[in-house]
Amino acid sequence: MKQPPERLMPVRISEISEIVDTLSSIRRKRMNHTKKALQNVRGEVYTDLATLYCYSTDASIYQVMPAAVVCPADAKDVRECVKAAKELGISVTARAAGTNLAGSCLGKGIILDISKNMNHILGIVEKDGEFFVDVEPGVVINDLQEYLGEKGLFLPSDPSSSEICMVGGNIGTKASGAKSVKYGTTDDYVIDVEFVSADGEIIDTARAETIPDQISGGLLDLKKQILADTDTIACLESKKDVKTASGYNIMEMLDQDSTGGMIAHLMSGSVGTLGIFTRIRLKVLGIVSGTAISAIYFKKLYDASDAVQHIKKLDPVKIEMMDSTSLEIVRAEHPDMGIPANVRALFVEFEGDDRKSKIDDLERMIHERYDVCLIFSESEDEEVQERIWAVRKALVPILTNYDEDMKPDAFIDDVAVSVPDLAPLICDMHEIFEEYGITSAVYGHAGSGNLHIRPMLNLNDTRNIDLMPELVDRVYDVVFKYGGTMTGEHGMGRLRTMFLEKEWGRGIYGYMQQIKEIFDPDGILNPDVIFSDRQITDDIKYPTEYINKFEKKCINCGYCKSVCPISITLKGESGSRSFLQLARFRKLESPGHSESRSAGKMLNTCLGCLRCATRCPSHASIGELLFSQKTPPIYTRQAMRTWASNYNRFERYTRFFGRIGTPAARLLLGRDIPKIRRAPLVLDECMEQNPDAMNVAVFVGCASALFDDQVAEAMIRVLAKSGFNVFIPEQQCCGLPMIEEGLYDLVKDTARKNVAAFADERYDAIVTSCASCTMMLKKFEELLSEDELGDAAARVSSITYDIGEFLAKHLDDSILSGKKLDIRAAYHNPCHLAAAGVGNGGGILAKVVSEFVELDDGCCGGAGTYSFLHSDLSMKVFERKLDDIRKIDPDVIVTTCPSCELQFRHGLSRNGVDCEVRNIVEILDRYYNENRV
Ligand SMILES: Cc1cc2nc3c(=O)[nH]c(=O)nc-3n(C[C@H](O)[C@H](O)[C@H](O)COP(=O)(O)OP(=O)(O)OC[C@H]3O[C@@H](n4cnc5c(N)ncnc54)[C@H](O)[C@@H]3O)c2cc1C
Ligand code: SF4
Ligand code: SF4
Repeated sequence: MKQPPERLMPVRISEISEIVDTLSSIRRKRMNHTKKALQNVRGEVYTDLATLYCYSTDASIYQVMPAAVVCPADAKDVRECVKAAKELGISVTARAAGTNLAGSCLGKGIILDISKNMNHILGIVEKDGEFFVDVEPGVVINDLQEYLGEKGLFLPSDPSSSEICMVGGNIGTKASGAKSVKYGTTDDYVIDVEFVSADGEIIDTARAETIPDQISGGLLDLKKQILADTDTIACLESKKDVKTASGYNIMEMLDQDSTGGMIAHLMSGSVGTLGIFTRIRLKVLGIVSGTAISAIYFKKLYDASDAVQHIKKLDPVKIEMMDSTSLEIVRAEHPDMGIPANVRALFVEFEGDDRKSKIDDLERMIHERYDVCLIFSESEDEEVQERIWAVRKALVPILTNYDEDMKPDAFIDDVAVSVPDLAPLICDMHEIFEEYGITSAVYGHAGSGNLHIRPMLNLNDTRNIDLMPELVDRVYDVVFKYGGTMTGEHGMGRLRTMFLEKEWGRGIYGYMQQIKEIFDPDGILNPDVIFSDRQITDDIKYPTEYINKFEKKCINCGYCKSVCPISITLKGESGSRSFLQLARFRKLESPGHSESRSAGKMLNTCLGCLRCATRCPSHASIGELLFSQKTPPIYTRQAMRTWASNYNRFERYTRFFGRIGTPAARLLLGRDIPKIRRAPLVLDECMEQNPDAMNVAVFVGCASALFDDQVAEAMIRVLAKSGFNVFIPEQQCCGLPMIEEGLYDLVKDTARKNVAAFADERYDAIVTSCASCTMMLKKFEELLSEDELGDAAARVSSITYDIGEFLAKHLDDSILSGKKLDIRAAYHNPCHLAAAGVGNGGGILAKVVSEFVELDDGCCGGAGTYSFLHSDLSMKVFERKLDDIRKIDPDVIVTTCPSCELQFRHGLSRNGVDCEVRNIVEILDRYYNENRV
């Protein structure tokens, strides 16, 4: 691989604790001043270092510490912030979900987080048969789609980050997605924008009287100038077929008749440099139902690229491309996906009633023109369509886990050319990567000429950081050679400013500077993201040391925020992704420092639910990263040691102290805590041994062993009546309480004891009625992978089942031929079951109750002692469940987690909702009793 000479390490903020200290002292001096300037703001104002650190990153490769973070309550608050920034002489940067890949929502001044309070959908407007939706900028795209979907409408510009990114960010970056080939970009749907100008005025593009003369006059003059400039018009015309989010949106601006229209379109892709949006009117369309998909595997890259222009004539919704490197990466990981060797692919999607005939036309055209390896199409069956798309969807997670040290960082990212130039562009790029000996996946929205380029480089190696500018320069040179753009949809930011003039030429670059001058002459709105003299490697965030493997895997995409109960409840930059920042912050700060203590307090709000791990494309688990960072006090360590090493003694103590303490705890905490057993739980092994039946070993779990709630007894009865031979081996705690305290040595000790007891060849299955035990037993394989009991641990993990999952798979359905229980049961899937990859635990319920509904997936806020220690927050998390329950109005909530059961009982009684809460085995036990099984 071509290597530049070694040089001194670049300064990287996240590695250098002195910088944090310096910032700390600067901050202390500035803090009072800043707070005073922001005193009229009604929303939240943060100047503590820990919070600022959470806002110092986005999904890009950069890190910049802000001076303050404000979550404005409304447009007037935004105005206050802009005025305060002017007074303080610092910048203002708007931030939505922070998923942009170019470092465009970072800044050294005030960060305005519009996601926390300005996140309301204001309503649908119908005008002349067309539909529009009015929204605030912090509305998550998926939430908007759900709202629109209920009315048969949708917003067509749908980026793949839609589960987390927001309207403000989509307009800021001029986002789009796979559907852009048919539906265009966000810009095509922006009708009007209300925004706060750099002067602190609230301007609405729908109301000409709110637009200051300086802006309208300036724009009209500029438009005249550009229209008279034939070179510029020729250059803009030559790029008409190129989807671009680079620089200001001059092409669209020129097409507008009104000043309001010109401004609204200039806002698209302006990355917060012209104004801060506070309300937006978007055009929306009616949903077209029915899709058909075709995967075409080509032998030659030229054919794949050439075919795109012909396929476009058939009016597809999507044409996605994967080059041979991308496909080989997926093929190596998933040999079962049926990907032929040495091919490149196009994935084409049609929609509407004529989709089948379009697929036929497509196949005919492809066979006539090209020598293809394989075409696979489906126009009806959604499951088959999912399998076709699975190849394309598999790429990103594999890329992020491709190599332990190399990440597919988005530093070239997002180029676009006109469709006929795709093939030569890809060939030229491959030549460059080959010259440097770098593997790079090239894939993306071929239908709109837009490619994502992800070179695999280890940016922790300073020599690779030195290589970056050269590599980017080389790739952009070929992109510009074909009249292309450096960004098709991800927009401007710290990553690209240095190439803007090269892409557009001196003349157009100058007009863009004039636009900035008209809107923001003092340059306070998000400087450094469109015009700057910075280097591409300035403010790069790569550390040389990671906290552990999970931080190393994390690409900061923020996807985990969409499932983290804390992020969902507290909004803004809270929960999973910010927990990772806080953990790093604590590593940099001295532990006794007050800022570090406040970070520690925030970190303690993690529920340990591990939902984050279920959504992470890189298989990083922030929850587990946080467990590993815990340093529990000595008394906790001692209690855990007893728990782990002498379970019987621990059980004795807990029963003794539990029985004395429970009445007082009930009074003190105002909670209904279950009775503790008087005597130890004794369960007989199943009396009858049927040689033809499965042998099931029951893992009882500490809660069932200690609480006198008869769940353990019900489980044994249910398994025995279901025809299984039941065994109850001598057992220990599953280890979850120890892992949650970061005591991995103890976890391994208990795991070894449990493995020794449960790996017995006699057992065909191990079954639990506690989600956390299920998850832990399934983790034994990973925990003891390097242990002498590794193989036995793998066996235990492979035969462990949640009781619902087990019965759904192995129960002879003829046993369930009796009368269903006449109840409306709502099933709650516990987080630890989701984390264990069990999705169908509640399915068996449908066979025994008259009405079965699943509650919205998500955490209930229970999490063991969490609900006592963080009672208010825990109840806030529960509110989402409560809303769902009120809508569904069930007779009984069913789950398989003792902690969730407690939380539901408490939450429901506190809110006056009369509803029974049961473990799934109790319902099955009831069914067997009523039907005399
Ligand atoms: C895994 C992954 C997949 C992605 N897939 C796609 C994709 O398919 N298509 C695509 O286009 N992008 C994609 N992106 C990039 C990113 O999601 C988009 O750029 C998105 O539009 C950013 O939205 P956000 O809400 O996160 O905004 P942020 O990142 O917070 O902000 C983006 C820009 O908008 C500005 N902004 C935000 N709010 C306002 C406001 N109220 N007023 C003025 N300016 C504002 C910010 O200052 C910033 O410059 C992806 C990113 C990731 C991590
Ligand atoms: S464990 Fe749960 S609360 Fe903690 S970061 Fe993950 S999703 Fe959020
Ligand atoms: S943990 Fe995973 S999902 Fe969360 S920000 Fe990191 S990479 Fe994204």
